[in-house]
Amino acid sequence: TAWTPTADRALRGRHEHLPESHPTYFSRPIAMVRARDCRFYDERGRSYLDALNNVTLVGHSHPRLVEVANRQLGRLNTNTRFVYDVLSEYAERLTATLPDGLDVVYFVNSGSEANDLALRMSRYLTKREDVVIIDDAYHGYTSVVADVSPSRYRHYGKPDTTHPTPVPDRYRGLYGYDDPDAGARYAGHVIETFDRLAAEGRPPAAYLFEALLAGGGQVVLPPGYLAPVFAAASRHGALTIADEVQVGFGRLGEAFWGFQTQGADIVPDFVTMGKAIGNGFPMAAMVTTREISRAFDPAGRFFSTYGGNPVACAVGLELLNIVEDEGLQHNALVTGEYLRERLAALADRHELIGDVRGQGFYSGVEFVRDRETKEPASEETLIICERLKDRGALVYPTGPAWNILKLKPPLTFTPAHADEFAAALDAVLEEGW
Ligand code: PMP
Repeated sequence: TAWTPTADRALRGRHEHLPESHPTYFSRPIAMVRARDCRFYDERGRSYLDALNNVTLVGHSHPRLVEVANRQLGRLNTNTRFVYDVLSEYAERLTATLPDGLDVVYFVNSGSEANDLALRMSRYLTKREDVVIIDDAYHGYTSVVADVSPSRYRHYGKPDTTHPTPVPDRYRGLYGYDDPDAGARYAGHVIETFDRLAAEGRPPAAYLFEALLAGGGQVVLPPGYLAPVFAAASRHGALTIADEVQVGFGRLGEAFWGFQTQGADIVPDFVTMGKAIGNGFPMAAMVTTREISRAFDPAGRFFSTYGGNPVACAVGLELLNIVEDEGLQHNALVTGEYLRERLAALADRHELIGDVRGQGFYSGVEFVRDRETKEPASEETLIICERLKDRGALVYPTGPAWNILKLKPPLTFTPAHADEFAAALDAVLEEGW
């Protein structure tokens, strides 16, 4: 049930006009009226620390983004068949963040579209249909990408052309944190899948992966995982697609792009990006090589009405400037680590915390009923999130069993914010059940 007039009205409207399966955060949702930097404000002016919102990379309503979006909207907003400076300037800046060779940008409007296009191009170029993925992933909502998203096709049946490989989860997976070869061992399962498909006469068109698994449970890829997988993909003529929708743009701290945290020699054929790319302005992109782009041209010209519009380009360009000017990738590295240290310290006093993991400002806290059996504390995790909300801190469960807190705050999160969040979690866990 709703608890304020605005929330009540907003919820009634949703019940009438949205699909019934459409979720809201929290059993008693909050009607948000504004947000600034790392905080949301509800209609009563109550503030909520945002530890959840990975879209808002540079903080909510960043004044520089608001300014460029307004200015561009008032000056020119049209489509990419016209020629305007800001698109060329943005494409130049965006591709400069990527390894050499990844030079051609397809501007689209959502992460789903970016992945859909990369898969379509992979299939066209290789004249193959099969796709190898990591289990429990989510790559989007179109028919093509739902078919490679276990969390979606679970509801209607796995397509025959989709081949999930084990989640390289060192907390509860096949090989643990104590295994220095875990990366190579998990990679071995992917390579076996490539080999098996090739032996069956259906080698894969593509390997699609996230450099840190979001829906899969905030799982950091073990060191040495991608290199052997990429080598095998190349041997088998499969193209590689890095889905950076969740983790790109400096969020992981160590590197600007997630795949780069696995080594400088990891260069995918396609990089797909969304969410943070526009800090909430709806835009997305897929970047590939000139060679691949040319080979796809006979399939017909690419055009998206809104993709790459001048406002999107102005916002995207200013976002890259802000990340650089404010040193946000570095903050993700340093303050992200500090946040995990604070959370890991809570594990000494709260048995429910089974694992704290992450990279930069992308962290997970996994709750278990028993540290030996690792039984997921799913109900408890949702209750913890509800109670944190009541204390003014926003975070939400994720993972296949919904027992993991997903923490992905704006990159402007400070050590004081980290202290505030850790203190709230400590207090909630202290209350007990
Ligand atoms: N890939 C990943 C890893 C995602 O998390 C998402 C969205 N949650 C998507 C793709 C799809 O992006 P969008 O919702 O913008 O279509």
